[in-house]
Amino acid sequence: MPTLLSNQSNQSGRVMAEEFENKEIGRLHPAVKADLHLHTNYSDGKLKPAELVAFASKRGIRMLAVTDHDNVNGVKEAIETANKINSRADVAKIAVIPGIEFSASWDMHGENVPGNESSPELEKIHIVGLCVDPEAESIVRVSEKHKSIRIRRVNEISDKLEECLGAKGLRREHLDEYINKCGSEFVTRKQIADYLCEQELVSDASEAFEKYLVKGRPAYAERHWSNISEIVQAIVESGGIPVLAHPCRYKNLSSPELIAKLIKDFASLCPRDPESSGVLSGAVEAGWPFQTIDDGIMIASLALENSLMCSMGSDFHEFGNRERILGEKLSVPSRVLPVWQDSRFDAYWQSLGIDPAEATLKKMHLIQTIVGPEI
Ligand code: AMP
Ligand code: MN
Ligand code: MN
Ligand code: MN
Repeated sequence: MPTLLSNQSNQSGRVMAEEFENKEIGRLHPAVKADLHLHTNYSDGKLKPAELVAFASKRGIRMLAVTDHDNVNGVKEAIETANKINSRADVAKIAVIPGIEFSASWDMHGENVPGNESSPELEKIHIVGLCVDPEAESIVRVSEKHKSIRIRRVNEISDKLEECLGAKGLRREHLDEYINKCGSEFVTRKQIADYLCEQELVSDASEAFEKYLVKGRPAYAERHWSNISEIVQAIVESGGIPVLAHPCRYKNLSSPELIAKLIKDFASLCPRDPESSGVLSGAVEAGWPFQTIDDGIMIASLALENSLMCSMGSDFHEFGNRERILGEKLSVPSRVLPVWQDSRFDAYWQSLGIDPAEATLKKMHLIQTIVGPEI
C-alpha cells in the first residue's frame, strides 16, 4: 500500500521514519509482552477463553485483551483462568483486559450522524473497546442489537449459499448444525467460510470470501451496523477506550487519503482525556505484526496528528494462521503514546506487580526496550 509519508513533511513523521529505519522503535520488553486484540470461540476464534489465556501465559504474554466480535461473553471465563494462573507461585502473573470488537458503519463521504444509515457509501469498519465494563448498559444494548443483525444475516447467507451450492452438495441443515456446534451466538462470515473449507467446496477461507461472501458475490448479505459515533459513545459510556482496529486492512479503503479521513473522523468522536493535556481518549491500532513498516509509520503518524494513542494486537483467531500469531512481533513507535499508559490500565499493571506510582516511568522504560529473540 502506498503511504502518506512521501507527501508528508511534518517532523513527527520524519522522526518516526528514522526510528523505524534504525529499528529503534518502542517495543514491549518480553517480561511485559501484551496483545490487545484477541478472539475466542465466543465469536469466530477457535480457542475457549480458558485455552486462550493458558496459551498466552505459556507464550510469556503478561497482558491480553479478549476482544470478541460484538460481545463480551468470553471475558468472565478469561478472567477466571487468569485468576487461577495468578494464584500459582511458579508462573508469571497475567492480566486480562475486558474488551470487545464492534462492527460499525462509517459514512466515508458524509457526516457520521447517528441514524444516518441509509447511505450507499457506508463502509464496514471495526472498533475495539478496551477496559470496558462488560455489564455496562451501553455495551449490552449494542451487543444485543448486533446479535440480532448477525442472526438474520447468517440466515440470509445460508439461504443464498444453498441456492448457489446446493447442486454441489451444500445442505442448509448441515451448515446450521456446523454453526450450532461452534457454540457462538455471534456468528461471523468466518465460521461460514470454515464450513465451506471443511466441505471442500473451497480450498481456504480466503477463497470462500472472494467467491461467495464479499460484496458483489452471490452469498453476500448487506447489513447496517451501528454508526461509528454510536459505537464510540457506547464504549466511552462503559468507561472504556475506543480503538480503531487495523486501519490498513479494510479492503475498500486502499488509499492513504481515505485512511487519513477515517482516522480523523474517528478522532473527532473521541472525548478529550481530562487527565492528559491534549490527548484524546481513543487510540488506533498501529501495531500489527504483518503490516509493512511504511503502513506502521503512516498509522502512527496519523495517530500523532490526531492526538490519538496507539494500541497493538495480533487479531489472533486460531492456530495455523501465519498472519495472526498470538503476541508475536507487536510494537508501537516510542514517539506515540501507548494506550496501555492510560490510567485505566493502572490497576492491571498493579496486578502484575508494577507500582502505579512509578508506572509511567517504568512502563516507558519497558516499552523502549527492544524485544529479544523470539520465544
Ligand atoms: P463478519 O463480522 O461476519 O463480517 O466477519 C468478519 C470476520 O471474518 C473477520 O473478523 C475475520 O475474522 C474473517 N475474515 C474476513 N475476511 C476474511 C478473509 N478474506 N479470509 C479469512 N477470514 C476473513
Ligand atoms: Mn474475526
Ligand atoms: Mn477486525
Ligand atoms: Mn478481530
